[in-house]
Amino acid sequence: MQFFARAALAAAFALPLTGIASAAPEPPFNFDTTYGNLPKDVVPRAYTISVTPDPDHLALKGSETVRIEVRKPTKTVVFNALNLTFSRASVDGVPATVVPDDKTQRATLTAGKILQPGMHSLALTYAGKMETSGQGLFRQPYLGADGKQHVMISTQFESTDARRMFPCWDEPAFRAVYTLSATLPAAWSAVSNMPVASRVVHGATATTTFQPSEKMASYLVVLSAGDLKSISDVDANGTRHEVWATNGYEDEGRYALANSKQILEAYDAYFGIKFPPPKLSSIAVPGGFSGAMENWGGITYNDQILLLGKSGTLGQKEEIYSVQAHEMAHQWFGDLVTMSWWDDLWLNESFASWMSARQTNLANPTWLWWQDQDGDKEGAMGADAEITSHPIQTHVTDELQAEAAFDPAITYSKGQAFLRMTEAYLGPDTFRSGIRLYMQNQKFSNATATDLWLALSKTSGKDVAAYANGWIGQAGFPLVSVTATCDATGNRTIALHQERFLISGISDPAKTLWNVPVGIASGSGTSAYTMLSARDQTGIPAGSCSEPLRANAGDIGFYRVAYDAPTLATNTKAFGTLPDEDKIAMLDDQWALTLAGKTDLKTYLALANAMGSDHDTRAWTQIVGSLGTIERDERNKTGHDAFTAYARTLVHPLFDSLGWDAKPDDAPPVRTLRNRVIGALGQWGDPGIIAEAKKRFAAFVADRSTLTPDEQNVVLGIVGTYADQATFDQIHAFAKAAKNQTEAERFYFALESAKDPKLAEQGMEIAISSEIPPQAANSVPGMVFSNVDWNPSLAYAFGKAHGKQVFKAFTGMDMVFLALFVPQAFADAAPLDDVQAWVTSLVPPGSDAYIQRGMSSAKLRLQLKSRIVEQADSAMSFSRS
Ligand SMILES: [Zn+2]
Repeated sequence: MQFFARAALAAAFALPLTGIASAAPEPPFNFDTTYGNLPKDVVPRAYTISVTPDPDHLALKGSETVRIEVRKPTKTVVFNALNLTFSRASVDGVPATVVPDDKTQRATLTAGKILQPGMHSLALTYAGKMETSGQGLFRQPYLGADGKQHVMISTQFESTDARRMFPCWDEPAFRAVYTLSATLPAAWSAVSNMPVASRVVHGATATTTFQPSEKMASYLVVLSAGDLKSISDVDANGTRHEVWATNGYEDEGRYALANSKQILEAYDAYFGIKFPPPKLSSIAVPGGFSGAMENWGGITYNDQILLLGKSGTLGQKEEIYSVQAHEMAHQWFGDLVTMSWWDDLWLNESFASWMSARQTNLANPTWLWWQDQDGDKEGAMGADAEITSHPIQTHVTDELQAEAAFDPAITYSKGQAFLRMTEAYLGPDTFRSGIRLYMQNQKFSNATATDLWLALSKTSGKDVAAYANGWIGQAGFPLVSVTATCDATGNRTIALHQERFLISGISDPAKTLWNVPVGIASGSGTSAYTMLSARDQTGIPAGSCSEPLRANAGDIGFYRVAYDAPTLATNTKAFGTLPDEDKIAMLDDQWALTLAGKTDLKTYLALANAMGSDHDTRAWTQIVGSLGTIERDERNKTGHDAFTAYARTLVHPLFDSLGWDAKPDDAPPVRTLRNRVIGALGQWGDPGIIAEAKKRFAAFVADRSTLTPDEQNVVLGIVGTYADQATFDQIHAFAKAAKNQTEAERFYFALESAKDPKLAEQGMEIAISSEIPPQAANSVPGMVFSNVDWNPSLAYAFGKAHGKQVFKAFTGMDMVFLALFVPQAFADAAPLDDVQAWVTSLVPPGSDAYIQRGMSSAKLRLQLKSRIVEQADSAMSFSRS
């Protein structure tokens, strides 16, 4: 699953999640002993479910027969149900009673007689509720391609919401076969995990029955229906691929359909097990939930991350491909082999993230995708460098914790980086053999981390558990310090020292150690791994002292490196000659060491100044991002103008060599880089850039064909920032006249970047108005809080006054996550006591731990801000002298 609202908030505010207990090392998967809240003496084997949704009244009716296996004599059967009322119940035709308890989300059936071991048939008739957001079976209103208001329905069950649509054993270890049928308006199409088996029309309604599913976990069941149309194709291995969209938008699924075929064929080959279901549907849901969900054979997507219209950008193409590659990786990691319990959610999410990055990089070599993913790795390291961070593997006991485990920084990004490091250390072929063995051993079943380590140990001959458990079971990551000694002939020997890297600058009270595969390369040589297992290791030969040294070669490891001063000086001198990945790693590390107060900003700026004519996108994105952080932190301070002038001077030569206009032979990352550099110079008040953006906007007003969608983004960003009322009104008119949501959001977001407080206020009013269509409700918080950049106090006051409207699309757990994101965003907009009181009023009761963690991050943010301002002022007086 992917949550974009949550990931976007986390990225925007660089947020950590914290204070979660680590899980104890586990045995291999065993159904009887795996953690869970339901008794295992009655096990479902096959469900036959009939539902009749009533979206007009937000209600549903259902009946269900479950083939259950009773494993020891019992009179009671316990399963999950939420907001369901039962009108009839029986076992083997003998009436039974059911008592649901919405507090525990469980129902207890008492049979008419004692059930003996063996197979039995349980029958239930019930009524339930439909939801208005992505939890259970939900109603989704949307503005259709015909300009009219429509309604469709869809489901979102992960983690624990299948129980809202049908009674079930709603824990991942209870795999069963599902045969679903739905009675809906006859004009509608319905899509589920499997192809349609039969369709019977009765006047205005029709009952669609789907073929029995694979044996799978309940959270993977899907039902989407409405005025939907599809396009389809068949891949080389015989799997049928479909893209479903609301009527009129199906042709925007062409790109996704081609991707779907390409990715599934590659995965069939990688895993050595062909995709089991006969078809794979990709379903575009307008709005709905701000992400994508890997239901087996029927993946649902927010339509903005599946459909690509004429106004799509390169960034959207990249996002669509990588999200598809993530959800499709889940068809194996998650669906074919499911984590035994939510503790091992990382077996789903870390793997899907890593596999997606691997596939996206392989299939689109010009995108330099692993370099791009360094941004995600830095996000994870930022979160994981707080004392309150948590391990990849966390112990989960209830529904709220299961939801909280979907932490974008740690479960997704750190997990992805850890797996990449592991693949590189074991070797890609050995790693793949281990994955294939794991899939063969656990297919159509469940797994723990230990099952994976056993398979990888077998194929690699290494004790993988000993290496890996420290990485998934401990919070944080190491700082590896490198000290070189040179002999009389110039040969270099290095000593390594590890300790946990904490951004606050304190030393690690827990004295954590890791097994760190340190990839070392000297000069232009290839890298060799040294496994650093103790606190210190000495006597490692590392080339010649005259050559640069790379101690995280290829930017593959999840650790930071601090070089001694002479080695850093050698590296800085040779910086322009280093491979791009190593430049990126050194810039990241030197910047983080500056934030932590462990080095001087001047050492970072020396690297940035040594970039020369290099056009590497991620390296420059890192520089532009770091300078941008300082520029924001310097606002309203005496050093602001001097620093901003310095930043413009540093970056301007890059702009001079790129220019405004794309060249036909520009690689995709160069186009991205051009937009970032222009955007940054605009943000830093470069008069030439601002004047040119205004000129180009005027030409665009006269002739809408003068700017491509990618160019519109950068021009609108600058023009929106410096807008006067007339310009603001012009952008607003474009927004209202936009033909589709992608285009509309581009203009609406431009309204949320105004420096002028009066316009910022107008922009926020627009964001919460009825002008924003229902399917864009998830974007509203992001729109309003874009104003934090230039008008933090105003955005804070507005959020406080209109919280209900701003967050109307957020469901339970998203609101809990706000406690983590919001305090840091407003750390310097209002007194922290006031921020805490507001956040407390926003989030559900019982979120105190999250609020404390959010407030701790806010305090850290202020500490880092004052540290970086002091460093920048000192570096500027140095640079002037
Ligand atoms: Zn996922």
